[in-house]
Amino acid sequence: MKLELMNFLTGFVLSGAMAMFIERRDVLTFGGMVTAIALGTMVYGLGGPLWMGVLFAFFISSSALTNIFYKEKEKVNREQFEKGGPRDPWQVIANGGLSSLLAAAYFLYPRPVMLAAFLGVLATVNADTWATEIGVLSRPGPRLVTSFKAVEKGRSGGVTILGSVASLAGALFIGGCAAVLASIFDPGLLYAFGWQKVLIIAGLSGFLGSIIDSIIGATIQAQYYCGSCKKATEQRVHHCGTRTVLKSGSKFVDNDTVNLLASIAGGIIAALLFPLL
Ligand SMILES: [Zn+2]
Repeated sequence: MKLELMNFLTGFVLSGAMAMFIERRDVLTFGGMVTAIALGTMVYGLGGPLWMGVLFAFFISSSALTNIFYKEKEKVNREQFEKGGPRDPWQVIANGGLSSLLAAAYFLYPRPVMLAAFLGVLATVNADTWATEIGVLSRPGPRLVTSFKAVEKGRSGGVTILGSVASLAGALFIGGCAAVLASIFDPGLLYAFGWQKVLIIAGLSGFLGSIIDSIIGATIQAQYYCGSCKKATEQRVHHCGTRTVLKSGSKFVDNDTVNLLASIAGGIIAALLFPLL
């Protein structure tokens, strides 16, 4: 693909439309929305419609889930998560930033393995988001992925069967969208890949990436403790106003860092899988 202003303009208009659509659901802050538009514009300008379509599949499906299950998650948001509610620019970058760098890499070095890595990154963040949004609904409470000890809902590194199924579904959803988009916009590529390969790469790398996300979340992510409420939380200052104390993990590793590391892992897994299949 050539570097053309028209592609960036198209990307800007489509991303703007998507952001407005999502914004009605109140899942992005204003800064988060501007960041999402910038990412979409770059991904379209450098990668084209197939790439942006896959990015949109992540943005739209995860925003829709956040919105649908908002009530169920509200309590967990308030008590537990560092950032509940609308996603800010850092969360958007942690989830989507790497995908625009890969679009730039593909622009400079247009090989299918770049697309595989891109699918791995987005399959991981999508799998993780679906697992978080849907896993909250699980009747049996979460267990820590490393020790299988029962933990509070919303604890990073906590997993449920429902969340794991949702994670695999989220990864396969990215693969399915990529296969459909490729058949429309880049049939030659799909012919080289084969739709089965697209599904397997996205499904496997996204599922494994989201397990890695849980493992990093359970081990090195900062976990705090509120002495007043006697509750574990990711908030430095608890919603009750009490300053929390670091209980485990590193204070330099928050949820955004974990998502970014896991998506790098998912991208690497997909790139390694690509020549094997
Ligand atoms: Zn508290």
